[in-house]
Amino acid sequence: MTSATEPLKDLHQLHLDIEQAQGELNRGPKQIQARKHISNKKETALKEFLDNLIQLKMFGDSKSLDLKTLENKLESLAAKLNIASSNREFNTIKDQIKADEMAKSVLEDELLEVFERIDEESAKKKDVEQQVEAAKQESTRFSEQFATRSTELGQHLEGLSEKLKVAEKILPSEPLADYRRLVFKKGAKAMAKLRGGACSNCFVSITAQQKILINTGEYVFCTSCGSLLYSDE
Ligand SMILES: [Zn+2]
Repeated sequence: MTSATEPLKDLHQLHLDIEQAQGELNRGPKQIQARKHISNKKETALKEFLDNLIQLKMFGDSKSLDLKTLENKLESLAAKLNIASSNREFNTIKDQIKADEMAKSVLEDELLEVFERIDEESAKKKDVEQQVEAAKQESTRFSEQFATRSTELGQHLEGLSEKLKVAEKILPSEPLADYRRLVFKKGAKAMAKLRGGACSNCFVSITAQQKILINTGEYVFCTSCGSLLYSDE
């Protein structure tokens, strides 16, 4: 470890902290959008669900009406049967009654099925409504939480930026230009700690010569990825 190690390590840590805070700040609006999107989708799903339920009930009503009409028809056919003037007329009415009874039976089965579906769907309504409410609450909760958090992060970043200006003063003018160019391009990846004699950004080992330079407090950039290296090994 050389005298340059600690300041470089602190400098790198500042870049890592800035990157982390900036990342959290940048992710916020996307996270807000994602939650709004989920909430909107749930609302659309509820609307579709309620529309389907209305359609199903209307279908049930129309089938009920068909059944009522058929029952009335059967009643009037039964009355006609009683006053049939000939055998032929009697048999014709009887056949008609038979056919309509069959249709009535089919209609009753259909209606039962529709009512069962209405019951099933109605039972789901509360759950679908709760899902919408939960998604809305989560969206609002996150937005409010992020509003507070973004203020905190903004202040935190201002503080870090001030500290960075001070920490960068350790760099002499020669590595400073390269360092600035790297920071602009790669953020915290502009710097790398040596791990097992290798750059922790690209894992390429440094040469014995570079090791000596680093140990004597020189500023050395990784020959592979360009990172400003420091060692606490
Ligand atoms: Zn490297």
